[in-house]
Amino acid sequence: MKGFAMLKIGEVGWIEKERPACGPLDAICKPLAIAICTSDVHTVWEGAVGDRHNMILGHEGCAEVVEVGSLVKDFKPGDKVLVPAITPDWNSLEAQSGYSMHSGGMLAGWKFSNFKDGLDSEYFHVNDADGNLAHMPEGMSLEDACMLSDMVPTGFHGVELADIQFGDTVLVIGIGPVGLMSVAGAHMRGASRILAVGTRPKCVEIAKKYGADEFISYKNGSIEDQVMALTDGKGVDRVVIAGGTVETFESAVKSLKPGGKIGNVNYLGSGDYITIPRVEWGVGMGHKQINGGLMPGGRLRMEKLGSLVSSGKLDVSMLSTHVFHGWEHIPEALQLMKDKPADLIKPVVILDNTP
Ligand code: NAD
Ligand code: ZN
Repeated sequence: MKGFAMLKIGEVGWIEKERPACGPLDAICKPLAIAICTSDVHTVWEGAVGDRHNMILGHEGCAEVVEVGSLVKDFKPGDKVLVPAITPDWNSLEAQSGYSMHSGGMLAGWKFSNFKDGLDSEYFHVNDADGNLAHMPEGMSLEDACMLSDMVPTGFHGVELADIQFGDTVLVIGIGPVGLMSVAGAHMRGASRILAVGTRPKCVEIAKKYGADEFISYKNGSIEDQVMALTDGKGVDRVVIAGGTVETFESAVKSLKPGGKIGNVNYLGSGDYITIPRVEWGVGMGHKQINGGLMPGGRLRMEKLGSLVSSGKLDVSMLSTHVFHGWEHIPEALQLMKDKPADLIKPVVILDNTP
């Protein structure tokens, strides 16, 4: 089978591989559409998951099932499915303890284009099919289905980690696609006021539609000074971090009220330490919590978030700004994500031809 792969750090290309084998609990799927992720750029050009050779890329997409193992109960060939970026082993002890995303070790629930070949391929393998796949809701567009793999669940997990409550004033740092979904999630969770850090006009326009009230630029001085100016020196109840660096935590802690909570879903690609400012952390006694996590993945989350989209309560169509048709456009779509033109949120490739 043909797949689009990371050949080594900094190099991509088409390769031929054996079609994966289907174990008793597994499914083999063919992708119907795939989306490109900021993480693909980190993986290929920054070696974020390590020096992988000839590893097929892609962890966002929707698919058709072509084969299932003998013990799979709820899926059959021909079913159209949502595919989560994180596919835990649901019988692992980590999953039983509530941390499915770390099944098999730290972050090891992230398998596609990390420990095994991903979705940008004629066929791909899904472990624990009954636990990880979800039936695609009737009438859902392929573009919207792709947003459910990673952008919706990750942005919403940031909201869960920040534990947003009715009436909270919330700061969302970074309004790329993940941060935009955190804005949408914060709004749904009842935030009374949402401050968003970001300046790209396209992102600002969409963030407003999802419920952001005011905007801050990290290029116009410190985030915390701008937050304090907007909140009469009080700060915010919750912060979701969906962009920035190790230094962003300093601003997040300084922007919080005592008792506030930070939910981080941002990938920290460099730096050895996160700095927590001593005084603003209440000299160790400020009750300011910092939570960071990989999104949990799995079928239940896919079904629930899918129903938010299919019921019309969450419109994700604004995220798919660049839609291509045909396998041959995958390299172009990846390059687009690397170059990040001002009007780009997510590139999606509809795979309506044969590779
Ligand atoms: P993105 O690059 O499109 O968005 C990041 C945003 O942060 C941009 O708008 C950028 O302008 C802003 N930003 C950059 N530097 C900043 C700074 N110093 N201060 C404040 N804002 C700054 O990326 P995305 O696709 O929206 O993803 C966001 C992050 O989430 C990435 O790091 C990605 O790797 C990570 N991610 C995590 C998970 C997870 O499960 N935890 C899953 C998917 C993606
Ligand atoms: Zn992704």
